[in-house]
Amino acid sequence: MGWNQDWENKISKTELTPGRIITEHKHIYRIQTEQGLLIGEVSGKFRHQAISREDYPAVGDWVMADIRPEEGKATIHEILPRISKFSRKAPGDTTEEQIVAVNIDTVFLVMALNQDFNLRRLERYLLSTWESGANPVVILSKADLCLDPGAKLAEAESVAMGVPITITSAKNGTGIEEVKSYIKEGMTIAVMGSSGVGKSSIINSLLGEERMLTHEIREDDGKGKHTTTHRELLLLPEQGVIIDTPGMRELQLWESESGLSHSFQDIEQIAEQCQFRDCRHESEPGCAISRAINNGEIDQSRFDSYVKLQRELAYLERKTNKKEQLLEKKKWKKISQQQKAHYR
Ligand code: GDP
Ligand code: ZN
Repeated sequence: MGWNQDWENKISKTELTPGRIITEHKHIYRIQTEQGLLIGEVSGKFRHQAISREDYPAVGDWVMADIRPEEGKATIHEILPRISKFSRKAPGDTTEEQIVAVNIDTVFLVMALNQDFNLRRLERYLLSTWESGANPVVILSKADLCLDPGAKLAEAESVAMGVPITITSAKNGTGIEEVKSYIKEGMTIAVMGSSGVGKSSIINSLLGEERMLTHEIREDDGKGKHTTTHRELLLLPEQGVIIDTPGMRELQLWESESGLSHSFQDIEQIAEQCQFRDCRHESEPGCAISRAINNGEIDQSRFDSYVKLQRELAYLERKTNKKEQLLEKKKWKKISQQQKAHYR
C-alpha cells in the first residue's frame, strides 16, 4: 500500500500496528493493515486532542492503531506525519478546509488535446500540486484527436518548465509505458483533471483491466457527463498505489466556484493605466477602464464579473482570517487548560 523505509522510520510506538486509510465516512475509517482490512475510529484521547478537521485521519494517511483482527476492528491512536496534503473549501457557507487526500507522491495532471487544453488551467493545477507538497507530471491525453500534438507539447512546456510531460492516447496505447515509468515502488499516485479527459481510461491501462467505469462523453463539445465513483485506493499490479477519489477529481470545481478559473489579465493591464493608483473605476477622472468600456475594448459584462470576483475574494479572505483567529484562540485555550490540569 505504499509503505516504505521512510514511514518505518516515523514509527515511535512499536506496540501499535501501521495501517493506511482507504476510505473515510463520518469519522469511520476503512484501514488496510497487514492483518487485513479493518474498520476503525479514533481513540477518545485522539478526539480530545484534535482541534480542527485536519487533525483527523484522511484518505491516504498512515495511522498507528490498536488492532483487533478477529473483530475486524481497530482504534486509531496516531497519524504519521504527512508528506503532502490536498484540500479544498468544505461545502456550504464556510471557509473550513476539507482534506481531500494526503501522502500523494506524484500527481498526474491530465489535460486532453482537444477543447479541454487550457494553459491557464494547467498553471493552476501545477500551482496547487506544488503547494500540496507532491510532484506533478503532466499528461496530454487523447493525442489521437489532435493534428499537431508537438505544438501543444511546446505550449505546455512553456508553462510547466522542468516538469515531465507525456503525450498519451488510450485509444492506441501511445505513452502508457512512459506513464508507467514515473511510478516507482512504494509510490502513491493521484490523477487530476477535468471530467471526460480520459483519467479512468489511463487508470484502466495502468491496472490492466476495466476496474474503473469509463463513461461516454460527447466529443463535439468536450463536455463530460458527471458520474460518481467511490473513494478508492487502488493497488497497481506492478508497483505503486493510486488514490482515485471523487474529491481529487473534483478539485477543479472549487476553483471555478470561487471564480478563479477566469483570467482577467487584460483588465488588470488596462487598469494599470488609470490616472489614480487606487482607482475604483467608477467615475474617477483619467480612468482607463471606463475609457476601454466606452470604446468597446472591454465588455461591460466581463468587467462586471471581474468586480464580482474581486469582491468574493476579498470576502473569502476576511472570513478565512476570522476563522483562523478563532482557531488559534481555541488552540491556545486548549493548551493552557491542559497545562493547568497538568500542574494541578
Ligand atoms: P474521465 O472522466 O477523465 O475519467 O474520462 P474517461 O476515461 O471516462 O474518458 C471519457 C471518454 O473519452 C470515454 O468515452 C473514453 O472512451 C474517451 N477517451 C479516453 N481516452 C481517450 C483517448 O486517448 N482518445 C480518444 N479518442 N478518446 C478517449
Ligand atoms: Zn480606473
